[in-house]
Amino acid sequence: MAKQLGPGKCVHCGEYVEKRTWDHVFPKGWYPEDSPPDIEKWKIPSCKKCNAEYGSLEEDLGIRIAFCIGPDAPNAKGIYRKALRSMDASKGRNMKDRIRRAKKRDRYIGLIMKGDAIPQDGIYPGFEDKWNRPREDQTALRIYVHELERIVNKIIKGIVFIEDNRFLDASTEIEHLVVSDETAKPLEELLNKYGSRHEREPGIEVIRAVAPEDGVSALYKISIWRQWVLYASVSQRTTQ
Ligand SMILES: [Zn+2]
Repeated sequence: MAKQLGPGKCVHCGEYVEKRTWDHVFPKGWYPEDSPPDIEKWKIPSCKKCNAEYGSLEEDLGIRIAFCIGPDAPNAKGIYRKALRSMDASKGRNMKDRIRRAKKRDRYIGLIMKGDAIPQDGIYPGFEDKWNRPREDQTALRIYVHELERIVNKIIKGIVFIEDNRFLDASTEIEHLVVSDETAKPLEELLNKYGSRHEREPGIEVIRAVAPEDGVSALYKISIWRQWVLYASVSQRTTQ
């Protein structure tokens, strides 16, 4: 598949542009190492600007989440190691790259919160301490809601484009739902009953239930590495 694409609309921003590139719905680096070598990674046409913006967002978010799930998380083979390597100066290709990696490492070390500094009511569902560490030894990294919202937007627009050959524009509202296990139950029931499953195992699964009435309103469950679960809804905005 050629990297450059002809003119057309960008799936993310909806702008018509002369040149588009293929953007991965889930970044290449998020596919675990034991994904089948011939796995067809989902790709969508994107303008250069959106592709680049998502590239840096995904790099940052990928590292934060990799550290939250740890080195032994199942369905995420190699993800943690890759995050570490990306900030290992000794793995740099040249001096410039070694400096970049060292700076990156310093930056993330500076962002680590410890013990009482971790806001206990702000822990993303599923990312509670997994290692039974006493409170003072627990560490955390902040994950920004707007980043999660942007990634949810991207994944949903990508799946809708791939599955329905349709662009979601500003007339649709995509809402990221932060739910605990308990509040996820009614959503799980709906998804089990009406959902269709789209997967790139072992790392990626999307289940969605689309309302037959309009073909747009929908409920989504995005599961990455079986560790990081995002729920979202899509609805038509009412114009009044
Ligand atoms: Zn764009």
